[in-house]
Amino acid sequence: MQIKLYNSISKQIEVLKPIGDNINNHTIRIYSCGPTVYNYAHIGNLRSFLAVDLMQRVIRTLGEFDVKWVMNITDIDDKTIKGAAIGGDGWRTEMGKQTADSKVNLKKFTEFYAKEFLNDIGAVGIKKEHFYEIPRATNYIAEMQDLVRKIFDNGFAYVSDGSVYFSISKWREKAKYGYLKKIDFENFVVGVRVDSDEYEKEEAFDFVLWKFKKEGEPYWEFELDGQNCDGRPGWHLECSAMEKHILGLPFEIHTGGVDLCFPHHEDEIAQSTAGYGIEPTQYWCHNEFLEVEGKKMSKSLGNFYTIKDLVEKGIDPKDVRFAMLSAHYRSIYNFTFADVESSRKGRIRIQEYIYSVWDKLDGNEVNSEIDYTTVIGKLILDVWENLTNDFHTPKGLAATYKIINNVKVSELSESDLLNLAGFFVKFNAIFNVFELTTTPEVKLEIPAEVELLAKERFEAKLAKNWALSDKLRADVDALGYIIKDSKEGYTIVKK
Ligand code: AMP
Ligand code: ZN
Repeated sequence: MQIKLYNSISKQIEVLKPIGDNINNHTIRIYSCGPTVYNYAHIGNLRSFLAVDLMQRVIRTLGEFDVKWVMNITDIDDKTIKGAAIGGDGWRTEMGKQTADSKVNLKKFTEFYAKEFLNDIGAVGIKKEHFYEIPRATNYIAEMQDLVRKIFDNGFAYVSDGSVYFSISKWREKAKYGYLKKIDFENFVVGVRVDSDEYEKEEAFDFVLWKFKKEGEPYWEFELDGQNCDGRPGWHLECSAMEKHILGLPFEIHTGGVDLCFPHHEDEIAQSTAGYGIEPTQYWCHNEFLEVEGKKMSKSLGNFYTIKDLVEKGIDPKDVRFAMLSAHYRSIYNFTFADVESSRKGRIRIQEYIYSVWDKLDGNEVNSEIDYTTVIGKLILDVWENLTNDFHTPKGLAATYKIINNVKVSELSESDLLNLAGFFVKFNAIFNVFELTTTPEVKLEIPAEVELLAKERFEAKLAKNWALSDKLRADVDALGYIIKDSKEGYTIVKK
């Protein structure tokens, strides 16, 4: 099927088409700005990566393209350097002791959080095998230096005190600056520079491509224009260099959160075009933010969550995935515990319907006078049309519930049943929260009374009420069941 998606540059929905050789290879290349690994990922970050996961799964499953998905890991910037430099208690035992070498410290520190990040995205159903590469910025220093040199040689950069800056005024003589956001050039002063990687105002500044070394910080040797520029890359540089070397330019899709439009992505376009002479990508896709209970998530408001925080509250990561995917990626997603609970109910409803389809397939009974073929065909098409129209999951799911409400599994013929089973195989290749199997017996064996006791015991444990927790565990035991604690919460098994 044709995939349509919103392009932040044209501000329109466009048909996705491969570029160059990829037309024959039927391949779509995707580059996603990945995490800066200086802390645990929060659920806002996860929303961003779940949005791309959904996109790439729809593109594979319904567009029938091969997908090359690259997501970088930022392991060098102000925040990672600061985190790695903090000694004493700031270092977790898993990371080992600090060494005298700041580069080694940075690597240990960032690899610790990179591993945690990969575990967290795994927990919400993002599969490692779907990535073509997950490159670390520090493995592409030579490529970044080469790009700085190219931009300089082409006349769009200058050196000042060993740092290298991108000259906006020189660039504007040749090309546009302000593809993704309207830039305020009113206060623009030639040569006014910004060293920080993140700046809020949509004003033009000469941004830093390469920063001169600072005492005690990791640096790489570099010389430009006969000057000593030993130092490290600015944040925007890594994406331009890695996407060129791993995916080739131009590639099809570039993703990130809306906050990255400016300056990160605007600067990326300027760098790649000024250095390589090619605009990096065809389709820019940006996900909206996640808020918590209608407010910006922040540590000070106490509404800041990681996936582990949610698991500790007894939430199944599958429900986090399904809740986030149930909202359209270009709308703000308001995370609430009530919404996760209602998504869970929706997930279970669909799951039970899937069980019934597989139960019926297993039973080999063929019946039905009613012709569901046309109805099923129409409803399935409705789901796919919504998912391929800018990944509209809320409409796609509404259409799925129409199937559940209108198509009675008990009345289906074998061919309709197979059609429906085929639909759910594809549906789950996209949502990845369902089991494609007959109703599990073990689930039926656990009486509601035991389920309730186990739930109460889990809540007592979270509340650190150990006496009650032990008592409830013993009650469950007396009824012939065992509670096993797990990473996701707990499971109940028969003795
Ligand atoms: P960072 O690690 O800060 O570079 O962020 C990684 C990704 O998460 C980027 O694509 C951000 O745009 C995205 N992001 C950060 N905060 C949120 C949020 N609250 N909601 C959605 N996406 C976010
Ligand atoms: Zn980036």
